[in-house]
Amino acid sequence: MSEIQRIELPTIFGMKTVNAYLQKGDEVVLIDSGENTDESYAALTAGLKENGLTVADIDRVVITHAHVDHMGMAQRIGAEANARIWVSELVKDWAIKPDEMWSTREKLMLPTLLSYFDPTLSDLIKQGYVDMMGNVKKVWQPISKDQLEVYQSDGQLDINDTRWQCVYMPGHSSSQTTFFNPINGDYISADMLLRITPTPVIEPSRDDMTKRNKGILEMMNSYERLLRFDIKKVYPGHYETFENAHDVINKQVRRIDERTKQCYELIKSGQSSFIDIFNILYEGRFNMPAMIMLIGYLDRLENAGVIMYKERDGFLQIFTA
Ligand SMILES: [Zn+2]
Repeated sequence: MSEIQRIELPTIFGMKTVNAYLQKGDEVVLIDSGENTDESYAALTAGLKENGLTVADIDRVVITHAHVDHMGMAQRIGAEANARIWVSELVKDWAIKPDEMWSTREKLMLPTLLSYFDPTLSDLIKQGYVDMMGNVKKVWQPISKDQLEVYQSDGQLDINDTRWQCVYMPGHSSSQTTFFNPINGDYISADMLLRITPTPVIEPSRDDMTKRNKGILEMMNSYERLLRFDIKKVYPGHYETFENAHDVINKQVRRIDERTKQCYELIKSGQSSFIDIFNILYEGRFNMPAMIMLIGYLDRLENAGVIMYKERDGFLQIFTA
């Protein structure tokens, strides 16, 4: 059975690094590609060299989900190695036309963020958003159609002598596929299962692109489904591999439940503005992942029917239902 080698690549975003996984055999396969920067390319080259390989030896790149840190450099590798790039049916459009997909997503993302804040903070939020998007586009290269192959997000994927079960795991991203090997319990988890809790990013719902997806609800379902797999070893999208998958899942679910409850207590005690709740929960450490988590906690409370929103002074305020 071929070994899975982790190659850690730098990212320009908050996680600092992202993993590409190398599987050597008759075929040389890379799972996820990192971002399109020279630093990332150099780290990939060094990682391959340790395995006696060069970029040109890669036969196939498999992408887990349509986020820039996992697929930004796929085209560059594909072009240099003449490799096929495998994406699921849910990632295909993102691979070919990321700009178009982003513009649909942006129509929801920025207004969603702005709706929670006092209009006097709009410029600050917009600037943060524009900076982030500029970075995303800088390190994301579209993939040419004739290089693409499509796998099914709930199908199977054969890599050398391993038959991976594709396990669709929405939540962090609605385009996220993970890979489970039922023979030995290996699990390539993308960003579904990390040592730190993944964030449910803001994106259009798959059923109705004009509506926002409440990713946290899907994430909780995905955690629950994941507990049914007999996972022995996790190969996460970021940081080191680990073995205690069920402990990690239970701990993260517990923490999300705790934070959701804390949020509800604050609203019950009369806190009605997002920024005030945020500052209490996160002690004023303003950052995008934490903001997205808080939107998730509120989504859970709204979904449970215990809170409601009212527009006051030009933004959404939160009350018990
Ligand atoms: Zn990631």
